[in-house]
Amino acid sequence: MSNKEPRKRKRNFAMLNREVIKPGYCVSCGGCEAVCPVYVISIEQLKPKLVGGCISCGACIDICLRFKQKVEQPTYPVDEIGTILEIYTGKTKDEEIHSKSQNGGIVTTLLLTALKKGKIDSSLVTAHGSDLLSPMPTLALSEFDIRKSSKSKYTLNPVLIKLSSIKLSNKKKVAAVGLPCHNETLTNIMDMKNLGADFRVKYKIGLFCMSCYEPTGFRDIISNSLGLSTSNLTKTDCARGKFFFEHPDGTTDIKIKECGSAKAEGCKYCKDFAAEFADISIGNIGVDDDSNIILIRTKAGKELFEFALKDNLLDVKKIDESKWEETLAPAVKLSSLKRKGAKALAPIESA
Ligand SMILES: Cc1cc2nc3c(=O)[nH]c(=O)nc-3n(C[C@H](O)[C@H](O)[C@H](O)COP(=O)(O)OP(=O)(O)OC[C@H]3O[C@@H](n4cnc5c(N)ncnc54)[C@H](O)[C@@H]3O)c2cc1C
Ligand code: SF4
Ligand code: SF4
Ligand code: SF4
Repeated sequence: MSNKEPRKRKRNFAMLNREVIKPGYCVSCGGCEAVCPVYVISIEQLKPKLVGGCISCGACIDICLRFKQKVEQPTYPVDEIGTILEIYTGKTKDEEIHSKSQNGGIVTTLLLTALKKGKIDSSLVTAHGSDLLSPMPTLALSEFDIRKSSKSKYTLNPVLIKLSSIKLSNKKKVAAVGLPCHNETLTNIMDMKNLGADFRVKYKIGLFCMSCYEPTGFRDIISNSLGLSTSNLTKTDCARGKFFFEHPDGTTDIKIKECGSAKAEGCKYCKDFAAEFADISIGNIGVDDDSNIILIRTKAGKELFEFALKDNLLDVKKIDESKWEETLAPAVKLSSLKRKGAKALAPIESA
């Protein structure tokens, strides 16, 4: 080797730190902690930290969505939201699930049905801790755990850390629920055949997502500007340019614009609204507040949806292809806004 050739930089945690974490691109998805074979990454206060000796295996770099995006600099068509096989709108028929869910309760119904039928043995979901702003990544093994995870949590959530619990368990039929960023990193992990995720995760359920928030800043806004106790919140929702906070005395709202200071830094670089890496993507834009729009993207997504559909558990309407453009218009509009407003990731310095 000539002395003049540049020395190849080590693919290690230092590189992940330099390229992703330090510049503020990290979205605390939790994937790097899960894949590290020597368990030396720990997500602390929503930032990956090195807590032991890195063996420079490069796994954390290979699976990190932001690192991959920096290398590949992918282009995103503004008027498309990924592969779609079928579109449905509607809600669950189960009143108990519906009353406790975020919108139409479709996510909870799909998980419960698949578990009851033995099509899955566990689900990667997000319950909550002391309040709805404290997401709690959970490997749900029971109906009870799944029901407890209903409703949206709008703060950063390292749910993928729980993939390591799957690896250590005997679970082989997992459904994973996550935001677009979670689905992208999970897909990278599956492509790398890391953690056995490629054969263990059967279904990737994606949620639409415009943005997530830093818990401290978001709590300050809710407590100081709105005078609410976050521990009393029974639901947080985001629609029509506003956040709505439900509490025992009613509902209080605030314009999303006024929460901008708490928007998570890593979300400012995000260009995926509709969870394009998922098997089935579920949101609420363009339909009634108590309903969902469901985009079936893959054969696996169709299979999961049909477990509940065939058992007559869903009050849904299949959208004829001639109506897709009209039905999708609100989602496409938000997706384009997100793409146009996203900051550019600086190209990779070293790989
Ligand atoms: C941060 C965030 C932003 C969103 N933004 C939009 C939007 O702009 N437009 C839109 O149409 N829809 C958005 N959604 C999706 C919407 O809020 C509902 O999640 C979706 O409509 C499914 O409703 P459901 O009644 O079927 O969910 P439920 O049956 O109540 O189930 C909710 C599921 O969401 C999971 N979950 C909750 N919070 C998180 C989280 N932070 N990370 C990963 N998984 C989580 C739980 O594990 C649970 O399985 C957002 C969701 C989140 C979490
Ligand atoms: S984006 Fe995810 S994989 Fe990348 S550094 Fe952050 S937590 Fe780790
Ligand atoms: S995954 Fe590999 S490169 Fe990353 S911190 Fe762990 S040992 Fe180091
Ligand atoms: S805006 Fe993007 S990066 Fe942020 S939580 Fe949503 S999907 Fe993840």
